[in-house]
Amino acid sequence: MRESHCHTIHSPDASKDATLDAYIKTAEKRGMTHLTFTDHVDYEAKAKIFDQIPDFSVIKASIDSLQKTTSVNLQMGVELGYQPQVLNRMNALVNTHPFDQVILSVHYVKGLDPYDGSLFEGRSKEAALTLYFKAVLEAVESFDDFHILAHIDYVFRYLDDGIDDLDLTALTPLLDPIFQTLIEKNKVLEVNTAPYRKPYAVKEPVYAFIEHYYASGGRLISLGSDAHHPHDLMADFKAAALKLKAIGFETVTSIENKRHIAMPLSRFIDDR
Ligand SMILES: [Zn+2]
Ligand SMILES: [Zn+2]
Repeated sequence: MRESHCHTIHSPDASKDATLDAYIKTAEKRGMTHLTFTDHVDYEAKAKIFDQIPDFSVIKASIDSLQKTTSVNLQMGVELGYQPQVLNRMNALVNTHPFDQVILSVHYVKGLDPYDGSLFEGRSKEAALTLYFKAVLEAVESFDDFHILAHIDYVFRYLDDGIDDLDLTALTPLLDPIFQTLIEKNKVLEVNTAPYRKPYAVKEPVYAFIEHYYASGGRLISLGSDAHHPHDLMADFKAAALKLKAIGFETVTSIENKRHIAMPLSRFIDDR
C-alpha cells in the first residue's frame, strides 16, 4: 500500500501536526510500505502564502535520518505548479534536488486562481474551463521532468454551482490532446481523492474524465489523497479503486525512485 501525494509542515497550507514523523507513524499503523512526501512549490503563486518555498535539502536530510527508524520506504517528491513564466525555475528545481517523484499541477492560469474565484470572474463557466484545460495542455507539453499529472478535475472543485449543468463531453476536444500527450510521454494520471472528504463543488473525482482517459488508451493511473494531515493518508482509496476497477483498470501505478511500479487494484480493495 502506497501513498503518492501528501503535504507536510513544509507546505504552507498543511496542518501544524503534519510532521514527517507523524506521517510515518500513521503509515506504519496502516501497514503502508511506501510513503512519498510531495510538498508544494508554486512559483509566483497568486496566493502569497506559497511564496514560502520548502527547503528540500532540509527535507532530504530529515528523510534520510528518519529512514533509519522505519521500515516504510520514504521517498522525496514535490508537487510542482506550472505557469509558463516559471518554466526555467521549475526545470532548475528538479535538476537541483534528488526527487524520487515529481507531481505536475496547474493551480493558476494567467495569474488567475480558481480557488479565490478570480478565474471565474467576468467570464462564462465554459470560458473559464477552456482557459484552465488549455493551461494543463501547455503544462504537459512544455514540461518533461514529471511523473504524475495531479488532479485533472482541480478546477471543478471551486465552481460555485457544481457541474450538474455542464456537458462534460463538450470538454473532450480539450482533454484529448492532454491525454494523448500523457500517453506519448509515458506519464501517469492521478485520481485525487480529496473531493470525497472536502467541501468542494464535486463530491468525488470526476470519473467521466478517467473513463475518457481509459477509452483513449490510458492505463497509467495513480491514487493520491492530497493529505494535508496524516489522518488523511490513503483516504477513500478503496472507493476510488472500486470505481477504477469498474472502468476497466487493473493496476495502480506508483513511482519509486523515478520508476513506475504497478500494483494490482485489488490490493487497494481487499486490504482496507
Ligand atoms: Zn494541487
Ligand atoms: Zn497537493
